[in-house]
Amino acid sequence: YTGAVPATTKQVKLEKESELRIEVANNTPLRLRLLSGTAEIFGSELAPENWLTFPPSLKFAVFSWSGATIEMDGPTETDYTADETPMVSYVNVHAVLDGRRNHAKASSSIDPDASQGPRVIVVGPTDSGKSTLSKMLLSWAAKQGWKPTYVDLDIGQGSITIPGSIAATPIEMPIDPVEGIPLEMPLVYFYGHTTPSQNVDLYKVLVKELAQVLERQMTGNTESRAGGMVINTMGWIEGVGYELLLHAIDAFNANVVLVLGQEKLFSMMRDVLKNKPNVDVVKLQKSGGVVSRNAKVRQKTRSYRIREYFYGLGNDLSPHSSIANFSDLSIFRVGGGPQAPKSALPIGADRVADPLRLAPVDINRDMLHLVLAVSYAQEPDQILSSNVAGFIYVTDIDMQRRKLTYLSPAAGELPSKYLIVGSLTWTET
Ligand code: ATP
Repeated sequence: YTGAVPATTKQVKLEKESELRIEVANNTPLRLRLLSGTAEIFGSELAPENWLTFPPSLKFAVFSWSGATIEMDGPTETDYTADETPMVSYVNVHAVLDGRRNHAKASSSIDPDASQGPRVIVVGPTDSGKSTLSKMLLSWAAKQGWKPTYVDLDIGQGSITIPGSIAATPIEMPIDPVEGIPLEMPLVYFYGHTTPSQNVDLYKVLVKELAQVLERQMTGNTESRAGGMVINTMGWIEGVGYELLLHAIDAFNANVVLVLGQEKLFSMMRDVLKNKPNVDVVKLQKSGGVVSRNAKVRQKTRSYRIREYFYGLGNDLSPHSSIANFSDLSIFRVGGGPQAPKSALPIGADRVADPLRLAPVDINRDMLHLVLAVSYAQEPDQILSSNVAGFIYVTDIDMQRRKLTYLSPAAGELPSKYLIVGSLTWTET
């Protein structure tokens, strides 16, 4: 930020229980600070007087419970204050969850059910504010000293790692409004595509795997058990999408279902879960501040996320370029390529494309610009059940010398030669 833009400082007064909604300009970052009073961004409190710099295009709100004065420096796409927000209902949910965490903490750790804090799953259509509500609940919990686990099942617009993945990470501090979720050692599974319909069975297997690993980790960890989970989901709520939500509720043993912004989904969830008395289904209003994103914006956000993985949020990381021999890498795809058309099969035979089949992939020019995951598997047959260490980006393929050039966030050898390929691509801009 060179300061080439003329200074446009302005002060905004926030009444109690109101918020300042901001869309940062597309090409210029915005500086903002709290001058007086108290305010928070999605559950994370602002330190007084401290300038924060928000990247271009970011959409967020500064909310105040008791009133505040905010100072902004720089142009915005839009900024306005709103006094109608669902924040009181959100914080009431937090209070109930907090009570359950206290109860879990006070219970004997020998009783696995009583010592388990709330497992909250947030569901709703796209652009209903699911990620935002998840962040608030996590930040409010962390502020009170809990260490809840954030689980993000959104392979399109996830906030823990790059698209095409599902992931979980403990939240120990309120989430930084600029930096987002800390990236230290998340538990990540690579699905490889940005829509679940590409391979529904694989998506389910990975969700189940993630849930089982977390279950095991929590067994011996009373603090993390009491903190519970907040699970963010995809906005796909019709048909198979709905089935996947029920599958996730089941896999993670969720006991609080928060339904955002859709009456129909709420009533469906309530009816289907009414025979599970320990699961509470709660309807919550969508915030008027949530900004809708079209397919193009979503694609752009995905691309930013990948860029951020390699280069850091403010270009503060320098990824390493390395060259590997084809023979040193072992690349796999899950679920074979295109299925044989039915007409090509003997009469009476069914199409048999096993969606979980692990197929070795020969390296060719088509792999240019793909993002691959580096598996922790020791043997190929462990790939499906293994989490991933990180990602590489293919920048060159030399078929003659049989060498592949790739970008990785850290220097040194890859932790494993087993790589997973899907359909996730990226074009460096
Ligand atoms: P999806 O399912 O499509 O991933 P979502 O339901 O998780 O979407 P969010 O990501 O929470 O929706 O919100 C969409 C956008 O709206 C985000 O950029 C978020 O920062 C912004 N947003 C949410 N609440 C507010 C608010 N009160 N004021 C301003 N911006 C907001």
